[in-house]
Amino acid sequence: MQQDDQWRDTDLARSYDAVVIGSGAGGAPLALRLGQRGLRVLVVEQGDFLKVERGGTETPPGKFITKVMGSREAPLSVVGGRTKFYGAALYRMRESDFRETVHEAGTSPAWPITYAELEPYYEQAERLYRVHGTPDGDPSEPPRANPFPYPPLPHGPVVADVVRRLQQTGTRVAAIPNGLDYGPGGKCVLCASCDAHYCTLDAKMDAETASMRPALATGNVHLATQTEALRVLTDSEGGRTTGVLLRRRGVEHVVRAEVVAVCGGLPGSAMLLRHSRTERHPEGLGNAQGALGRYLAGHSVGMLFPFVSWKTLPPIYTKTFAINEFYDGAPDWPYPTGVVQIAGQMPFWEETSRLIRPVAKLIGTHSFMCFYMTEALPTRETGLTFEGDKLGGRVEPVHNLQTLGRLRGLAVDAFRRAGYRSLARKRAPYLWHEVGTVRFGADPATSVLDPDCQVHDIKGLYVVDASTLPSAGAVNTALTIVALALRAGDHIAGHAPAARHADAAPLDALQAPH
Ligand SMILES: Cc1cc2nc3c(=O)[nH]c(=O)nc-3n(C[C@H](O)[C@H](O)[C@H](O)COP(=O)(O)OP(=O)(O)OC[C@H]3O[C@@H](n4cnc5c(N)ncnc54)[C@H](O)[C@@H]3O)c2cc1C
Ligand code: SF4
Repeated sequence: MQQDDQWRDTDLARSYDAVVIGSGAGGAPLALRLGQRGLRVLVVEQGDFLKVERGGTETPPGKFITKVMGSREAPLSVVGGRTKFYGAALYRMRESDFRETVHEAGTSPAWPITYAELEPYYEQAERLYRVHGTPDGDPSEPPRANPFPYPPLPHGPVVADVVRRLQQTGTRVAAIPNGLDYGPGGKCVLCASCDAHYCTLDAKMDAETASMRPALATGNVHLATQTEALRVLTDSEGGRTTGVLLRRRGVEHVVRAEVVAVCGGLPGSAMLLRHSRTERHPEGLGNAQGALGRYLAGHSVGMLFPFVSWKTLPPIYTKTFAINEFYDGAPDWPYPTGVVQIAGQMPFWEETSRLIRPVAKLIGTHSFMCFYMTEALPTRETGLTFEGDKLGGRVEPVHNLQTLGRLRGLAVDAFRRAGYRSLARKRAPYLWHEVGTVRFGADPATSVLDPDCQVHDIKGLYVVDASTLPSAGAVNTALTIVALALRAGDHIAGHAPAARHADAAPLDALQAPH
């Protein structure tokens, strides 16, 4: 990782209207919106810029996560957070995800806002992240005021055949909405190495390229890298935030601000609120009624490998189709099931033991890597436990195991009807796209944040990232995090003194250039 702190280094002694902690999926768009509205903003990011050289024009633009970070488990503390490696599948959550929904193993909670309230922000997020898509073939797609900003990505050669055969045999196939700088004037070359890879062409619309750079371009936003937020500070009454204690290259600084937005992801945001304990808030900020760290949710995921070619597959961008027709239920299954999605090509066999690597590679080079994904439910018991200021343990969300099995069967059947046999090993589900632990809601007994993402009873303290979401639905969650961040930014700016809006910039003028 290259140390690149001279680009937009920051004077910590300046005064700021807002400090945003974390530059990932939540923090970067929030900073952008505040900067667009004319607020002076400091973003603090504990990591550095991640710069990876391509290594010659003949090598693919994408670099696999394990090659860049050393392992898949390494913390993704970099400018842009986890989105530097994400697959850029940018979905709106479905209308039903905002309502209380009964599942096989429990109930998914209602959100404090409706889909209709978030719809305008989804539209802004899609434009900002250049989302390519279409509602065709997707009965679960929620209503939208305007079409997708860009047409769906074209299917690669083998993918197009598989899609055609699935459709011919009665399966409704949908496009995956992807956030890439693709099309006329765009940098994306639709290479085979995108999902779980870093893009050396800067063509993936991630939190750095799509939000942080336009935020810095407003002139109102400053970024301090390699700077960790240690504590959020509150006044003596405990009812208002006053700033944040930071550590930058071993030196501690206090930065004062009327607004502090914690966007440190999971478990970073919950841990920071816990670390910020005071006499007025002995169990942590926002934890008066014990909701902090609780209600962890996410996605239960299984893998499926339809065998699509006797020949070794060429390197192609594959992440273009999904099967979403069973989202809200399936024949003889009364509960919501979820989605089947094709993933990008990735050399997963390199992460397996030497013994099974040849077989894993054979599978990986002759089949598509697909996954099926259902909602994993929160309860009061799921989430993080604290031991003093440390993380004590974690309780997993509740997996809907029979539903996951049913969805697996539906996926295997769909590919079999189309003429492809699949390998779909039964095993305990993976937990992806974790959400919750600092959720928003109307009731302080069961939530940390109010519906505007402000901590109950602490003025000026906000949390906007994956930990804000009360449930995960069954589609990828990053676009929802971006939409919530833009909405929270408007709320914060709307409550700032009017004089601060003097340097506001038009919202559409600040997209990242091609
Ligand atoms: C391989 C991979 C593929 C994925 N694919 C998709 C996909 O296709 N679609 C999708 O929707 N989602 C995808 N995701 C998930 C998505 O990236 C995350 O859900 C999202 O980035 C979470 O956003 P966040 O803001 O909560 O956290 P992050 O994006 O991780 O950002 C948190 C930031 O806060 C910083 N931070 C934390 N604590 C502090 C502190 N105390 N002081 C200073 N800085 C701090 C961190 O360093 C980090 O940069 C994928 C994830 C991975 C790893
Ligand atoms: S597909 Fe496009 S955005 Fe993704 S790594 Fe390749 S060039 Fe970059």
